[in-house]
Amino acid sequence: MEDCVFCKIIKGEIPSEKVYEDEEILAFKDINPAAPIHILVIPKKHINNLLEVKDEDNYLIGKIYKTINKIAKDLNIEKDGFRVIVNCGKDSGQEVMHLHFHLLGGKKLGAKIIG
Ligand code: 5GP
Ligand code: ZN
Repeated sequence: MEDCVFCKIIKGEIPSEKVYEDEEILAFKDINPAAPIHILVIPKKHINNLLEVKDEDNYLIGKIYKTINKIAKDLNIEKDGFRVIVNCGKDSGQEVMHLHFHLLGGKKLGAKIIG
C-alpha cells in the first residue's frame, strides 16, 4: 500500500532496526518502546488488520507466531516470558493499518501495557 508506514519500512523507504527478515515476514524494533524489548512482527503482504485475514493467510499467521517464538529465544526472553498483542480497530487504539504483532518483554509487565 502506497502510504502505509509499514509497507515503506518493508521497502526500505523508512529506516528500521530489523531483528528478523525472510521472504514473508519482517520484525523490527518499535520506535516508541513500551518495554525494554518491544518488537513489531509483520507480514510483508499488506493486510489492514486481523479482520482482513483470509483462509489463504492461515499459513502466514502460523508462521508469524513461530517467528515470534524464534525471536523470543534469540533475545533470551523465553525463560522469563513475554507478551504478544494485536490491536484491531478503533477501540484498541490501532494506529498503523498494517497487521502487526507486538512482542513485549524484558521486564515484569503490568496488567495494562499499551493504551
Ligand atoms: P498500534 O497502536 O497500531 O498497535 O501500534 C503501532 C506501533 O507502531 C506503535 O507502537 C508505534 O510506536 C509503532 N510505529 C509507528 N510508526 C513507526 C515507525 O515509523 N517505525 C517504527 N519502528 N515503529 C513505528
Ligand atoms: Zn502496509
